[in-house]
Amino acid sequence: MDFGWSQTQRQLFDDILRFARTNLNGDVVARDRNHEFGRKQWERCAEMGLLGLPLPKEFGGLELDHLSVALGLEALGQGCEDTGLVFSIASHLFAAAVPIWKHGSARIKSTILPRMSSGACIGANAVTEAGAGSDPSGMKCRAEKVAQGYVLNGEKSFVTNGPVAGAVVVFAMTNPAFGHLGMSAFVVEAGTKGLTIGSPFEKIGLRTSPTSSIYFEDCLVPEDHLLGEEGQGATILKESMFWERTCEFATWVGSMQRQLDRTVEYARTRKQGRKSIGTHQAVAHELVDMSIRLEAARLLLYRACWLLDQQQPAEKEVCMAKIAISEASIRSSLAAIQIHGANGVVTEYEMERFLRDAVPSTITSGTSEVQRNIISSYLGL
Ligand SMILES: Cc1cc2nc3c(=O)[nH]c(=O)nc-3n(C[C@H](O)[C@H](O)[C@H](O)COP(=O)(O)OP(=O)(O)OC[C@H]3O[C@@H](n4cnc5c(N)ncnc54)[C@H](O)[C@@H]3O)c2cc1C
Repeated sequence: MDFGWSQTQRQLFDDILRFARTNLNGDVVARDRNHEFGRKQWERCAEMGLLGLPLPKEFGGLELDHLSVALGLEALGQGCEDTGLVFSIASHLFAAAVPIWKHGSARIKSTILPRMSSGACIGANAVTEAGAGSDPSGMKCRAEKVAQGYVLNGEKSFVTNGPVAGAVVVFAMTNPAFGHLGMSAFVVEAGTKGLTIGSPFEKIGLRTSPTSSIYFEDCLVPEDHLLGEEGQGATILKESMFWERTCEFATWVGSMQRQLDRTVEYARTRKQGRKSIGTHQAVAHELVDMSIRLEAARLLLYRACWLLDQQQPAEKEVCMAKIAISEASIRSSLAAIQIHGANGVVTEYEMERFLRDAVPSTITSGTSEVQRNIISSYLGL
């Protein structure tokens, strides 16, 4: 068993951490308050190569494997205080760029992917509908085959990056009678006639990551915008979920590290009477538990990524990593607030934002309950 990183991986982590601390943090409190997407910061991330981490070099990417992508995004999550921006980057990469790279036609790949890596085209993904979340096989969105391609009709909800997207990977039924086997995936480019974008939602957290509904009304997409083949939607979705549930959640591992570092520092320097609060066993033990939760989640993440890179079965481990990271993030955010006392609920201390940004993590990319259902099937239940 090898727990070491290569020199190249260490360099990647250090470079991204330094870049994020220096370039992305200016006015995060204000942007969070205003639900403002950091377009300037997005462009800086593109220049750093972050918007194409796993993509092949021919499309402007860095061609990294799961483990290295996770390490890079952990560094981004640790250094960047704008968790919404980091979440938008992860959605762009894993829910849009990866399925296009893996299943797009040669023309689509060569026209869209270089623009995604360069930041010019922001990716989004539309599976969820108002009436179909955890079980997408109940979706109503239809794609009908016509002579010139496919005509899409229906509505999608909770599309991360919807309001700023240049290309959306959309899942729709081509054959509803077949349930999830009748689902297909398409790339729909912004500006296509019949595609309308709704207003951004106001959310508890991840506020700088814009989310909206999108609507299709007789929206014609050319035949070569179909990803893979008709009926392959569920397989394409599952594959991109493996990337999302690991590498996207690496960003929360990074932000938990920053949270722990700041909370330890606070406990060492905050005094009540003559003693720093960290000398109280109750406070010290809470910090120890935060660090154990973080380390356990991190190891599950690395193991899941390693299995994916070895092309070994990894579904159970991927779900375990997703649960461990997201639930640790919420619990540790509550603990960090408690240790900060009243300062923990004040905006400028970042602790309240850690919690608000953690809450959606047990819902997005499949809820904790759905992950537990999948794991339970591996236990023979
Ligand atoms: C910040 C954020 C960003 C998102 N971005 C995107 C995006 O870019 N694209 C996209 O398509 N979607 C996106 N989503 C939507 C997300 O994928 C869904 O919210 C999620 O799949 C759950 O669906 P739902 O909200 O409809 O909840 P429901 O499916 O209605 O579930 C409600 C509750 O019932 C539980 N439940 C449901 N079914 C079961 C079951 N079989 N067993 C046990 N419990 C169950 C759930 O766990 C949950 O607690 C995003 C969500 C969030 C919060």
